[in-house]
Order: sequence, then structure tokens, then C-alpha cells
Amino acid sequence: MPRLIADRPVLHTTSELGRVMAAARAREQAGERIIHLERGEPDFDTPPHIVEALAKAARDGHTHYPDAHGEMSLREVLVEKLARENRIRAHVDDVVVTAGGTHALYLAIQCLLSPGEELLLLSPHWMALPKLVGFAAGARYRTLPVYLELLSGAWTPAQFAERLRSSLRPETKGLYLNTPNNPTGAVVSRAHLEALAQVAVERDLWVLSDEAYEHLTYDGEQHVSLASLPGMAERTVSVFTMSKSYAMTGWRVGYAVTPPAMRPVMAPLLAFYTTHGVFPSAQLAARAAVSGPQDCVARMRAAYDERRRAMLAGLSAGSTVRAPMPKGAFYAFANVAAARGGRDPWALVEEWLGFGVAVLPGTAFGPEHADWVRLSMATRAEDVAEGARRIAQVAVAGARA
Ligand code: PMP
Repeated sequence: MPRLIADRPVLHTTSELGRVMAAARAREQAGERIIHLERGEPDFDTPPHIVEALAKAARDGHTHYPDAHGEMSLREVLVEKLARENRIRAHVDDVVVTAGGTHALYLAIQCLLSPGEELLLLSPHWMALPKLVGFAAGARYRTLPVYLELLSGAWTPAQFAERLRSSLRPETKGLYLNTPNNPTGAVVSRAHLEALAQVAVERDLWVLSDEAYEHLTYDGEQHVSLASLPGMAERTVSVFTMSKSYAMTGWRVGYAVTPPAMRPVMAPLLAFYTTHGVFPSAQLAARAAVSGPQDCVARMRAAYDERRRAMLAGLSAGSTVRAPMPKGAFYAFANVAAARGGRDPWALVEEWLGFGVAVLPGTAFGPEHADWVRLSMATRAEDVAEGARRIAQVAVAGARA
């Protein structure tokens, strides 16, 4: 019998989200009703003009092998968008169209990390990152909790810079930044980004800047792209995606903006040999999304904003579960220390499934977050409100027990 699975640790890791979803599904099959607060999947349909652009592109014959770098007409529109919205001045050769933001992150990590080098993941971090680093031979990661402090305003920019400096090691090649942040909803301010930029320049670090939620900020918060700050374009890989802004998760279209130094490897080599490019009709639909009317983005943002308020209002009604008000993305990161009472985080997840609510344990976002859970608001408004109500009830009951 041949050995089927190569003996690499990354191939043996499991998905926390997959585990919660499987447990929820088993209960649903047994007739229970579960409210899904675990998934980061927009419940909106992709806006019709984007779907129409796909159909037209397919009818017009854009069904053959794509340019693995990205269709030129999409990259041109993206260069304009980057200048207009992100204040990033990019050349078309430095924009690579990828199979979603995940693939862009994968490519960036492959470009950046050699054996023995590490990426410092500012945390809580999106849960795919450890696995993506795991695919880079001999590379490692460490986590540095920052977003809860940034969200609560606990650190001045100088304190943030000091925290970063004291966490660096000789093998630290770069930082993974994600603003607006999944899962806390922190939006890192310009002043804090400037502090981070100063440290990056001082210590000659790369930054992997994940801007998947660039269009989802609330309460007047502004998203600032790190690569727009002086001295940062040459050391930043910026990652964007159609997934969240346009409810296009299934289309698998994202893009990376890389410094010219990466030109020789990023598109011709990595993008080509990992996906051979993205379905051209989907790329032309992405072009329609980026260059077309943006009122669909505004409508979805307004809906998430309303759910965010409903979630926080529901939780605060007598509950021991507390979540800082998110300023961006579509999650709340809630402290469940009292409800968990020191138990294994999965015991709490199971218990809450029993009350009909699926959540993701905070340990999926870094080992320091056992007392937290992520609540997604990318689900129907009624479910967000009902989910918050159930959690508040359970948590009060749990505290009394
Ligand atoms: N970054 C973050 C922070 C995310 O939450 C996600 C999706 N959940 C992604 C990147 C990747 O999204 P996609 O591959 O669908 O573009």
C-alpha cells in the first residue's frame, strides 16, 4: 500500500471553521435549527450587473486560457482604482490577478519566506495564515496580539511601534497586517500605520497588507492603505479581493500589488504555475464590478452596519458576553471568559450549538484568544438579532449556574 499523504505538517492541519460547520450540519440533519454566526460568507447575491457582465463575456468568447498575469483590461482598471481609492501608484505589471485574496496571500508568502525565516502575524489574525505559511518550506510564524488594543484605543502610535520593535527577531522577515481586521473589526488608524511603517523601514521588513475588507468601515472610520505611506510601496505586498466588497466569494477573483522587485517571479512564475490564471470571463465581470456603479457596495455596508448595531445591542442586554464595537469588516469578537469558565473553548462551542448558535472559537485566530469567539454578521439581520438574543440568554444562565 503506497503512502498516500506526504509527511508535511501542513497537510495534517484541520480547519476550525470546518469543524464547527460539520457539527452544525449534523444537528441540522437531526432537525435542529442552527443560527450560523461562524461563517464569513456574505448572504447577499452578487449584484446583477456583474452577473450580466460574466454572461456577456462568456458569450463573447472569453473562455480560453487567460493571461496568467491577469487580463490587461482588468489590470488597467485596477491601477486606476488603486490610485483613486487607495492612493497607491502601481504599474500594470505590478498588479497580479489571483484566484481570490487567499491565492494572493499564498503567492506573497511563497515570494517572501525562505527556510528559517518567519512572518509575524499581528493577531488575532485570519485563520488561514498559519496554513499558508505552512506551505512555504521551512518558514515559520509567530503571533503578536495587537488588534484588541488598537480597537480599544489602549496604545498610542509610539506604544504600538515599541510593541512591534520588541517583538522582532533576527529571522523576522515581515509582518502580516490586516485592516479592517477579521475578526475584531479594528481599523488601524493612519497614525498607527505610520508608526508601523517607521518600524518596517528601520528594521528593513516586508509587510503583507491584507485589505480584503477595505470597503467595510463604519462610524466615519477611513481605511488607509499601508503602501500609500512614504517608503512603503517598495516593501509592501497589498492584497485585495472582490469577495467581500461585491459579494463575489465564489468567483475567486482577487489581486496583489507588489513592488517591482517581485516582477520576475510573481506573475510569470508563481501565478502561472499555481492556477494558470483566472477564468477570463470572471475577470471581465470583476472589471465591471470595479468600474461600474458602487451603490451596491454602499447598500451592503449599510446593512452590515445595522446588523453590527443589532448584535452589540443584543449582547449588552444583561449578558456576560462583551464585544468591543467593531469599526470595520463584518464580525464582532466577543469575550466569553465568564461563560467559558476556564473550560476547553470547544466545550463552549458545543454548548452554544446546543442552544442553536454556531460560533468560531477565538483560538482559530491565534492561541492567545481562548476566551473569545467570533460572531459573523454576514448573515440575515433576523438571524443576527436572534443569535445575539440566544447568546445573551445562555451567557446569563451560564453565569448563574
Ligand atoms: N483575508 C481576510 C482577512 C479574509 O477574511 C478573507 C476571506 N474570509 C480573505 C483574505 C480571502 O478571501 P478570498 O480568498 O475569498 O478573496
